[in-house]
Amino acid sequence: MTAPLLQVHELTKHFPITGGPAGIRTIGQVRAVDGVSFNLAEGETLALVGESGCGKSTTGRMLLRLTEPTTGRIAFSGDDLLSLGHSALRRRRREMQIVFQDPYASLSPRQRVEDIVAEPLDVYRLYASHGERRDRVAELLRLVGLDAAHLRRYPFEFSGGQRQRIAIARALAPGPKMIVADEPVSALDVSIRSQVVNLLQDLQERFGIAYLFISHDLAVVRHIAHRIAVMYLGRLVELADRDALFDAPHHPYTQALLSAVPVPDPERKRAGIILRGDVPSPARVPPGCHFHPRCPIAQDLCRESVPPLRDIGGRSVACHFAAPFPIATASTSPR
Ligand code: SF4
Repeated sequence: MTAPLLQVHELTKHFPITGGPAGIRTIGQVRAVDGVSFNLAEGETLALVGESGCGKSTTGRMLLRLTEPTTGRIAFSGDDLLSLGHSALRRRRREMQIVFQDPYASLSPRQRVEDIVAEPLDVYRLYASHGERRDRVAELLRLVGLDAAHLRRYPFEFSGGQRQRIAIARALAPGPKMIVADEPVSALDVSIRSQVVNLLQDLQERFGIAYLFISHDLAVVRHIAHRIAVMYLGRLVELADRDALFDAPHHPYTQALLSAVPVPDPERKRAGIILRGDVPSPARVPPGCHFHPRCPIAQDLCRESVPPLRDIGGRSVACHFAAPFPIATASTSPR
């Protein structure tokens, strides 16, 4: 069996909270990411889902060391990323790219499309002549469904969906093995989200790119992901194959999240679950299971002991009392 492209082990990111008379004393910590482990295979899409503030984007940024982890290990193509020196990390970064949520903010308004897309080509010197650079940019624009004749235009001359295609072309330019796609369609009109998701899938089939697809939109995730990792307050609570997760979520938080997603088959309806209260602040995480103040089946053990991520029938679940969702479906006919 080949080793995964990416191996993440017990990754944490704690941001200090400062205070005191001079405002420089550390008086607490925001536990944005709190011991996250997962693998990503070549050509695979792993979706990282959860509510806003659960640590998804911080996790994605740490993979590229755009945010430095507090502790943990990240191995990419066999290299320990956190111990690489500047030049070795720079070489590895060529294979790891990111697409951000907001195509309005992520593209410089003063640069022409040609220069935006060519940026990684310039950084890694991936052309021998100016003509080759331009040909490569034109090819990348065609790959993402844009007119190669528009390479002298500026970002403001494009729609939101087209701008995100430009950002994807830039990410593709250095030939990455993995792209962290951080809410790549959330800022787009609903009508064009599926086009961009389909584009990402086409590019994956063509080039074998692996995606860490960060999203809070479970309908989109259901379309694109091979596996899904659910985060709550900085921790992974469930990780499973897509169909297994949607068919029978085991963790009470996953069950609540999925209960809000429409089921395509009208014969099979999910019972809605309303969670009590709000997500606690990551600066004041509850002891034991982070989810216990909102969990409908919490017991004393949950308040005292952190549930480890354990294997249950081929999936990973962090719950002392995990079981297939008893009210996931109300089917009138056998499956
Ligand atoms: Fe709920 Fe307890 Fe499981 Fe946490 S460990 S999800 S509180 S049952």
